Amino acid sequence: MLKLKRTEEIEHLRENNQIVSMTLAELGKMIQPGVTTLELDKRAEEFIRDHGAEPGFLGYGGFPNSICTSVNDAVVHGIPSDYQLKDGDIISIDCGTIKNGYYGDSAYTFAVGQVDPQVQQLMQATRESLFKGIEKAVAGNRVGDISYAVQHRAEEAGFSVVREMVGHGLGSNMHESPEIPNYGKRGKGPQLKEGLVICIEPMINLGSRSIKQDRDGWTIRTMDGKPSAHYELALAIRNGQPDVLSTFDYIEKPSTT
Ligand code: MG
Ligand code: MG
Repeated sequence: MLKLKRTEEIEHLRENNQIVSMTLAELGKMIQPGVTTLELDKRAEEFIRDHGAEPGFLGYGGFPNSICTSVNDAVVHGIPSDYQLKDGDIISIDCGTIKNGYYGDSAYTFAVGQVDPQVQQLMQATRESLFKGIEKAVAGNRVGDISYAVQHRAEEAGFSVVREMVGHGLGSNMHESPEIPNYGKRGKGPQLKEGLVICIEPMINLGSRSIKQDRDGWTIRTMDGKPSAHYELALAIRNGQPDVLSTFDYIEKPSTT
């Protein structure tokens, strides 16, 4: 059963996703060799609370921190620690908020210093696959149209799609129906309707698509130890079209803040 949102609910979701987007940009300014992922987490929590929201991840399913920090071969759900970022790393930061009973949820993969050209291509293709998916998020299409578009872009670039982890509906719960896989067939799956709010979040690997979980019970890593990239945006379907509620503009075009 899909929960379709009213305008007022979508505006609460937009506010949350804007706070998440600003938080990611704030953390982006801190990214450099030597900074620890726990320092990023502390700043995220402070920034979120300063904007009248609460960290959506803190305590969610028992998660211990306000952001997920997934470095290099970590795909998602990395736990902030005293690990110091180093030149050539990539780090996916996934951030959530809750305010007025609604969630925000978005993620971005940052380069630390100078990153290997092949890894830069992985990041670019992952980001592009997300936007290819967003283009298909129109009323009357099906979830599989999004999934296929994401998969096609990632695989044509020579990379592989993580299948066990998926995007999702977003609302007064962080994870709602429908699931939004990053692989699939056109014309299949639930139909996209006016008022549906979803997060699309491709997790794309440089090597094979196989993953494993660390003993910490959270961190998902590539089986082959090669890097993985992850980008996530939230969108509502309004007037039949994708109305993107979060943005990378604060990260990528700082003059717009
Ligand atoms: Mg997320
Ligand atoms: Mg998500």
